Amino acid sequence: DFSVTLPVKSNDEIGELSKSIQTLANDLSYLKKERNEFLASISHELRTPLTYIKGYADIGRRKTLSEEERMHYLTIIHEESEHVHQLLQELFELAKMDENMFTIQKQSVRVNDFVSTIYDKARHVFLAQGHQLELYCRGDWTVEVDPRRFEQIILNLLDNALKYSAEHSVTKINVEKQNDDILISIKDEGQGIPSEDLPYIFTRLYRVDKSRSRLTGGFGLGLSIVKELVEAHNGTISVESQLGTGTCFTIRLKESFDEDSFTH
Ligand code: ADP
Repeated sequence: DFSVTLPVKSNDEIGELSKSIQTLANDLSYLKKERNEFLASISHELRTPLTYIKGYADIGRRKTLSEEERMHYLTIIHEESEHVHQLLQELFELAKMDENMFTIQKQSVRVNDFVSTIYDKARHVFLAQGHQLELYCRGDWTVEVDPRRFEQIILNLLDNALKYSAEHSVTKINVEKQNDDILISIKDEGQGIPSEDLPYIFTRLYRVDKSRSRLTGGFGLGLSIVKELVEAHNGTISVESQLGTGTCFTIRLKESFDEDSFTH
């Protein structure tokens, strides 16, 4: 336990020092508690898919199974392994961020071209799943982003739009300028987020639906990674949502006027 009580009550330098040490001890104790809670949640998250993998591997070894049954069990094992893989990848990403071991290599990009390219990629995924994706770009501006990281941000938000929308929904990407800011928003017609959950959705491991559904299967890490990536670009991300109507995430970046560093 980091908690210590120093019996110094004066206002002189020693008194101030003892207050600082007390604050530090409180901070450390808080961090320790947070770390323990995080580790407990991760262990829990790993236990679920691993229980499936072990259980279905046991059943899959039975000699009496038909080929079809064996395929069924192998498919579940494969899907659950994917979950574990995804979780480990997201954790690794967060760990790198915490250690400041990840770098952002910004370059000037034309936001119109950039978002259009991502849109072209994502559109097919939406169509294949019976959804629609639309792009509205109201101008041609320049922003400073790390293209790989920024694509990851947008794809993650689009992935959520897909995951949390019923079939035949329409998701819209909107790029516009407001004062000196470029706004990129992703608006879906999905299930929406209850207002009491909204303040927490960027928190690590937070999920509105606490029981991870085998269909959606997220770990509640995606948006916390998105937020840290946006902030590493000196941008902000905000969300508006209405239950049953849809959700809109808006990324706000400063427009760049540095034409010299243009990369085509
Ligand atoms: P997950 O991996 O669970 O999707 P995220 O960090 O990406 O985790 O999102 C956190 C939670 O916020 C999700 O579990 C979901 O409840 C909610 N959420 C995120 N995006 C949307 C969306 N577009 N529509 C409805 N709910 C969303």
